[in-house]
Amino acid sequence: MLTAASVATGLLLPTGTAFAQAAPAASVPPQAGNAGHYRFRVGDDIAATVLSDGLIGGPPQVYASDAPEAELEEVLRRAFLPTDRLTLNLNTLLIETNGRRILLEAGAGQTMGPQGGRIFENLAAIGLQPEDIDVVVVSHTHPDHVGNLRTADGGKAFPRAVVFAPRADWDFFIRNDPDLSYMPVPEDFRRNFAAAIKRSVEPVTNGIELYEAGAEIVPGLTTLPAFGHTPGMANFLVQSGADQLLLTADLAYHPIVNVDRPWVPGPDRDKDTALASRRRIFDMAAADRLLVLGFHYPFPGLGRMLKTDAGYAWVPVNWQF
Ligand SMILES: [Zn+2]
Repeated sequence: MLTAASVATGLLLPTGTAFAQAAPAASVPPQAGNAGHYRFRVGDDIAATVLSDGLIGGPPQVYASDAPEAELEEVLRRAFLPTDRLTLNLNTLLIETNGRRILLEAGAGQTMGPQGGRIFENLAAIGLQPEDIDVVVVSHTHPDHVGNLRTADGGKAFPRAVVFAPRADWDFFIRNDPDLSYMPVPEDFRRNFAAAIKRSVEPVTNGIELYEAGAEIVPGLTTLPAFGHTPGMANFLVQSGADQLLLTADLAYHPIVNVDRPWVPGPDRDKDTALASRRRIFDMAAADRLLVLGFHYPFPGLGRMLKTDAGYAWVPVNWQF
């Protein structure tokens, strides 16, 4: 009789070989078990690690709101992606510099589906606990960037960390009841989205550090204005010597639809301002050949922007061992 385990073994390993016999079904993990962290350096002074918080996703049209339906389907098909759902990664970044551990973006946790919240196991995989994080900086306060700030029982998930958030987002989403009618999603989704933001940041409200995009957070980490997606969204520039890394937050969701094609993310609140930010920062990235980290791009999300006749092209970096 075929059991689920034997079927899985059949998919993973050739059957009837010495290799299959050496790896009995019981030793095959239920999931692939691939790494959810990726280490690299920025110059001599900064150790960087992409820590996956897992995945979120939704209907492709949400992330490419002005794409003609047939053309969007064709683009997804040619990328060998499903046409009914676009999967997005959650690439948080840990930087270690001058004895401090700084987490850029907190990640979604369970605020936007069951596949988020993996940052803690990926921290553990590199030998760290939440209390080892000194600073958390979020680019904006959407739930997929602040969700992990709160533990299941309402406490601080990173108990020692000072949390930095952009002031304009704090005013819009947390101090007020935001009008989210611009988001191309059902009303109950909007309501839950707004509630998830307030709930996620509640444990860190006391002691929150509000910054204006453009401010330096610590030496080697500067924020850049990237307004439009939200009122206060920032990008991050990490620098050591001549080496630079640009984190583009949610200027684009997936390079297939928002870089290689110019389609507009539906959740951009002020679409003209967001478009201007996207062009300004992508132009800078292309001109300076900057290493870029896209928060939602396929893991680990590192690559470069190429300027083309039609716009831009995303070029992932080669995996480094
Ligand atoms: Zn996001």
